[in-house]
Formats: sequence, structure tokens, C-alpha cells
Amino acid sequence: MYPAEFDYFSPNDLKEALELLSKYGDDAKILAGGQSLIIAMKLRIISPKYVIDINNIPNLSYVSESEGYLRIGALTRYSDLEYSDLIRNKYPLLHEAVKHIADPTVRNWGTVGGNVCYNHPGNNLPSVMLAYNAELVATSLSGSRVIKAKDFFLGPFQTALRTDEILTEIRIPIQQPRNGGSYIKLERRVGDFAIVASAVNISVDYDGTVKEVGIGIGGASNNAVKAYKAEEMLRGSRINDNLIKEVGKVVSDTIQPVEEPFGPPAEYRKAMAGVLTVRAIKQSLRKALGGV
Ligand SMILES: Cc1cc2nc3c(=O)[nH]c(=O)nc-3n(C[C@H](O)[C@H](O)[C@H](O)COP(=O)(O)OP(=O)(O)OC[C@H]3O[C@@H](n4cnc5c(N)ncnc54)[C@H](O)[C@@H]3O)c2cc1C
Repeated sequence: MYPAEFDYFSPNDLKEALELLSKYGDDAKILAGGQSLIIAMKLRIISPKYVIDINNIPNLSYVSESEGYLRIGALTRYSDLEYSDLIRNKYPLLHEAVKHIADPTVRNWGTVGGNVCYNHPGNNLPSVMLAYNAELVATSLSGSRVIKAKDFFLGPFQTALRTDEILTEIRIPIQQPRNGGSYIKLERRVGDFAIVASAVNISVDYDGTVKEVGIGIGGASNNAVKAYKAEEMLRGSRINDNLIKEVGKVVSDTIQPVEEPFGPPAEYRKAMAGVLTVRAIKQSLRKALGGV
């Protein structure tokens, strides 16, 4: 199917894009990698009257560490992260999550900003941002504001972004030595959206005590979930098999899956959220303690 008719803009700077967005509001959509927007437009799930392509705006694609944060420009492609030594070496959770998005074509086009802004329940990055306690920078004509990941993902295809805002940067606290992370995704076929995915990030002390931990669950329910209670159980503790098992149960109990007519049963996804989290904690811990 072809999309409904729309006007296309390709501004060369951020101010121009924001002016267009402020003028057209709800009738406009930002185009980043196009890997979700174009499909939704072709299926006429959405029919924006104005499309504002941000691909010609400079300085929206970068990956660097500064002032306490790993900073990722919203227009950074998944493949930029997949092939980044910094991400592979210091942000294993993020690295595993981008490697498990779809196929190389989607990874060459799709952007980090687009992934979190679209907030499809099966997208890989919302749960990762929750696990990292990331911050998202939203920019409008009146300036920028920082939104914590836990306040950003409001529901399926809904975020805290206003219609006059563009997501410009994603900030992840710089990870210190003795950090490990893991993203484990249950999918029907390689490259599919997640049936359930568990994103875990753990930092440990010299003696192996958990200093900081983040757990995000994607796919299992209609919005990514931050497993607060499970995080609390692990923070400050010395992890052992019994504790991990208990945490897995708590994660399963936290998830409230929606029954889908053609998807796997809700109870299965609930159970698998716990199983995958147990595995992801073990893998993260192994990496944090110096393994691979
Ligand atoms: C075959 C296929 C398989 C896929 N499998 C997976 C998968 O396994 N895991 C996964 O995570 N994803 C998957 N995807 C989705 C893919 O990751 C998309 O790239 C992603 O959902 C959107 O990113 P994008 O850059 O393409 O954004 P676009 O499609 O351009 O935009 C998506 C939405 O976000 C908004 N938006 C984009 N950037 C901004 C911004 N900077 N500020 C404000 N709003 C913005 C747009 O207006 C639009 O509403 C798959 C896609 C395809 C086609």
C-alpha cells in the first residue's frame, strides 16, 4: 500500500526542524531511520500531513563519553553502536541489545532515538534504557529538558515527549570497571521482535557486593517494565543462586502481560520474563567479575 499524501520537509538545522514541528504540531511526524514510521504510513496506521526528515541536521549522530555520561546522538544508527569499540568494551548490555535488532539493513538505517521514541512494546532499547537508568534529552524552541527513562515510556507507542519536541540525546551514566550487562531476547525467529527480553546491568564492588543494578523487561507486556523490587533485592547483596532464583520469581510476578490472539500465552511470557532474567543476571555477574 502507498502512504496517504503528505508534505515532506528536510531541514538543514535543528532550529528549522523545531519551527516546523511547532507550526504543525500533531499533524507532523519526525522521520529518522524510517524503519517503523514508513511502514506504519504505508499501512495507513498513521497518516501525518507533514513529515520532517531530520537526517540532514548536523551533530545529531555521535557516541562519546563526557561529564559523567555516555552521550548518544538521537540519530546514531544501531550499526554505529554495534561496531563501536567503546560500546563493545564498556557497555555490553547496549552492545548485545543492538546486535539483536532485526537484520543488518534495519540496523544500518534504524536510529537509537527512533527506537525509544516509537516505543513499540517489542523494541529492544526501552528496556535497556530502564536498566541503565538513562536520561533522554528533549529539545523544543524553548530549550532542552532531561527526562529520566523511568518517566519517558508511558505506554505502547507513547512517550513523555511533547509534540513540539525532538529527542536530541540519550545519556547513559558512564559505567565503571567491574560492570557487566546482558540482553537476552526470546524471539520466534532470529530478527523478530521480542516475545520477552530481559536487560540487566550490574556493577559490583571489590568484594563482589552488588553496588548498582538495573533490570528492564521488554516485550512481555504492553510497555517496558523496570523491575524495581528485583533491583532492590540485589542492591547491596552478595549474589548467590538462591537469591537469583527469588529475583526471577519476583520479576515474573511483576509482569502483567496482555493476552494476544496470535501470540504466545500471557502466562508463558510472564514465566519466561523470570527465566531470562535469571540467565541475564548470571551472565552480567560473570562479566562484572572479569569473565566474558
Ligand atoms: C523488519 C523489521 C524488524 C524489526 N525488528 C526489530 C527488533 O527486533 N527490535 C527492535 O528494537 N526494533 C525492531 N524494528 C524496528 C526498528 O528498530 C526501528 O528502527 C525503530 O522502531 C524506529 O527507529 P527509526 O530510526 O527507524 O525511526 P522512524 O521509523 O523514523 O520513527 C519512529 C517514530 O519515532 C519518531 N522519532 C524518531 N526519531 C525521533 C526523534 N529524534 N525525536 C522525536 N521523535 C522521533 C518518529 O516520528 C516516529 O513516530 C524492526 C523493524 C523492521 C522493519
